[in-house]
Amino acid sequence: MSTGQQIPLKCAQCGTESKYALEALVMQTARCLSCGRSFVKEGRGWARHIDEANAFYYWAEVLIGTEDLLGIPYPGIPDGDVLGNKPLPDHTLREIVQTVEAHIRNETVAISKVLESATKLANRPILAEHLDLPILQAFGVEEWSRKWE
Ligand SMILES: [Zn+2]
Repeated sequence: MSTGQQIPLKCAQCGTESKYALEALVMQTARCLSCGRSFVKEGRGWARHIDEANAFYYWAEVLIGTEDLLGIPYPGIPDGDVLGNKPLPDHTLREIVQTVEAHIRNETVAISKVLESATKLANRPILAEHLDLPILQAFGVEEWSRKWE
């Protein structure tokens, strides 16, 4: 998801509708063009939305890549139970390892294939020390919703 997109918003204070750069919204600098009201609340919502979309992308790509490396055919490893428990940006690569391990019953292979898949995706080494970081941090991707906490 690109922060260069224009997002249509209606001001809660004066009702003016306009388009705002997503980057300005998540940077908390967007203000209503008519009355100057700050779009902080809307910005937080968009920040969470971007983080969730990015985290889902990395989670799904690492898992699909790991299935490919292991030669596991469609429909692959079930991940619904793991994903349902908490916000996506709080998930770690360790949880993907656990998901894979539950399926293939081999922790060593699960760790090595998840790291191999993540390394391919990132195009730089993803190491065992990255396993317990929130998934976007493991990939060095900006987490907009944590910026303003
Ligand atoms: Zn306004």
